[in-house]
Amino acid sequence: MSILVVGSVAFDSVETPFGRVDNVLGGSATYFSTSASFFTDVNLVAVVGDDFPQEHLDFLKSREIDLRGLARDSGKTFHWKGKYGYDLNEAQTLETHLNVFETFKPQIPPAYADSEYLFLANIDPELQMEVLRQVRKPKVIASDTMNFWISSKPDALREVIGRVDILIINEGEARQLTREPNLVKAARQILALGLKTLIIKRGEYGVLMFTDTSVFAAPAYPLEAVFDPTGAGDTFAGGFMGYLANTGDTSEEGVRQAIVFGSVMASFNVEAFSLDRMKTLAYREIEERYRDFKALTHFRGLPHQEGL
Ligand code: AMP
Repeated sequence: MSILVVGSVAFDSVETPFGRVDNVLGGSATYFSTSASFFTDVNLVAVVGDDFPQEHLDFLKSREIDLRGLARDSGKTFHWKGKYGYDLNEAQTLETHLNVFETFKPQIPPAYADSEYLFLANIDPELQMEVLRQVRKPKVIASDTMNFWISSKPDALREVIGRVDILIINEGEARQLTREPNLVKAARQILALGLKTLIIKRGEYGVLMFTDTSVFAAPAYPLEAVFDPTGAGDTFAGGFMGYLANTGDTSEEGVRQAIVFGSVMASFNVEAFSLDRMKTLAYREIEERYRDFKALTHFRGLPHQEGL
């Protein structure tokens, strides 16, 4: 099954302790689509300005991402500037220039209106609502957001959360949204907004998944070389949704596997700036790292607890 994703396509300028890049390809929908494209067909809805180079379009096309929903408006492409200190878990936003996103109204091409898998990547929650109005009845709707929208559009954001099945946010955002420092309590409050599943990303500490009846934890892959965490969250979401859409298995076991695929994809993405690692990644490497993840968390049960 194909996935419809709506989010940002951007130029990013990023500084980490290991280097800096200016105006490279970025954006929530870009990372998501590229990652998901390793598992399934992706339909991308976003907007770019007239400064967006053919080279980036060619890259997205090389991943067989359907670009019929990618509008090109006159003006500048969205630009985000961020910085990371030695704690790579938290980005510091230095500048956000919405540019063409300021006036963007997402138009879902009629061919996408029946999409069964929908990902509302990090954009203005009012635009996320606009998309929800234009799709018929997806089997799975997941969404993401960030501190920028939690503080600027809290009501629209709560409305979106009430309409989706799965919310994927990072731990700082979960705390900010609920004003609750304890993550388990914060998770309960967020689930009560109407979600089936909440996934909390914790950077180098991995991921926690909460449902009404279960909690699941997946580690992050212990990497020696982490260059740029930008896009790790969207790349996680792309692997996660891509695998779900590929298998159609939304059982608890299926969702757990999808979380590990998401974690595998994120672990590759942080190895280089922008989407550079995605450009050289082969599916064989994804499966190898999935196996490493399995080994990473395997431990023997107690004999009298076998079967648990
Ligand atoms: P993450 O996966 O959270 O690291 O997402 C990073 C991407 O989000 C970057 O490539 C940015 O271009 C994009 N981004 C940053 N701020 C915003 C925003 N306010 N709205 C939409 N996208 C954003």
